[in-house]
Amino acid sequence: MDFRPGRHFLQIPGPSPVPDRVLRAMNRAVVDHRGPEFAELGLNVLRDIKPVFGTKNHVIIFPSSGTGAWEAALVNTLSSGDKVLMFETGQFASLWLELAGKLGIEVDFVEGDWRSGVNADQVEEKLRADINHTYKAICIVHNETSTGVTSNVPNVRAAMDAARHPALLMVDTISSLGSVPYHHDAWGVDVTVSGSQKGLMLPPGLGFNAISNKALQVSKSNGLARSYWDWQAMIANNESGYFPYTPATNLLYGLQESLTMLSEEGLDKVFSRHDRMAEATRRAVQAWGLEVLCNNPDEYSSVLTGVMMPDGVDADEVRKVILDNFDMSLGTGLGKMKGRIFRIGHLGEINELTLIGALAGVEMGLSLADVPHQKGGVAQAMSYLTATVVG
Ligand SMILES: *Cc1c(COP(=O)(O)O)cnc(C)c1O
Repeated sequence: MDFRPGRHFLQIPGPSPVPDRVLRAMNRAVVDHRGPEFAELGLNVLRDIKPVFGTKNHVIIFPSSGTGAWEAALVNTLSSGDKVLMFETGQFASLWLELAGKLGIEVDFVEGDWRSGVNADQVEEKLRADINHTYKAICIVHNETSTGVTSNVPNVRAAMDAARHPALLMVDTISSLGSVPYHHDAWGVDVTVSGSQKGLMLPPGLGFNAISNKALQVSKSNGLARSYWDWQAMIANNESGYFPYTPATNLLYGLQESLTMLSEEGLDKVFSRHDRMAEATRRAVQAWGLEVLCNNPDEYSSVLTGVMMPDGVDADEVRKVILDNFDMSLGTGLGKMKGRIFRIGHLGEINELTLIGALAGVEMGLSLADVPHQKGGVAQAMSYLTATVVG
């Protein structure tokens, strides 16, 4: 690789850029994970992660990717042959389907167009029709990272309550946690699945399960064969700040720092900053004369924006031109959207000038790649950010 001066712009919707403070916090000698120094770290992060999920119950931290945390959610609560309801919001929802199938769980998968979120009316209809309560869980993706669509979790909960259905509600917040408001307890979620490398601004390697009392009770008598993912052993050890096996020690030092950063800024400000970045991005896309993939404004994602390419343009070619010329990575189109969209991540460690730099890279790339578009997207984004300065 040629030498590239300055910073690489990692504008994919996860992993997101890791702040210098977090990198420095992890840059230290590995400690004894059975020693007293570790217990303090363990107790701190296990306590301070709770408000980010909006829970007073247990949050479990696995040394794993987000996918591992999904598997943990399923194997602790469901038994072989159990039926669950899932919604095809995009690639990540489709991967849930695959994972459940491999575990011997039967999935009723409601098809979707990859441009909108979970339809709560459809949830209610499905649940009312399930008079024998065969669905043991409803699994949804809060922020579909493959499309840039955020589903309304409270509406799904309300639909479940309206249908008086006892299924567990499981939510994938891998890309939304720490970027978009989320309330595990208040929204009546049973298992919230998350990961470290997106809104939490950490490298990949930590997976999370926030667990309701109901899910914990269910896990005591249900579940598939499990050992590494077992909640009970984790909860017992976490009591004193320890883990049943070696945790990702240095990532936990990073987590402690990122949680400090989130609380210094204040979660409300973190969320409104994401909303502003997202709105500025959409204004740029609109000025370019391009289309945002999400077609319901109530479900626009504040984490990322999926940008559709005109017919005949390969989105991956545009991404390549931008990477080669301006050293910026944009998200590729996944699954059904391969070649049709690119995704601009605007989450985590980002401010106005980072965003404007990223959008300038896109606008220059559209020209170099001969994508039919109008100029002036960056100017629109600047006007919006200027008019809405936080002060
Ligand atoms: C990134 C992501 C995943 C996958 O997480 P891994 O850490 O790659 O296993 C799953 N779901 C959503 C919504 C994501 O954004």
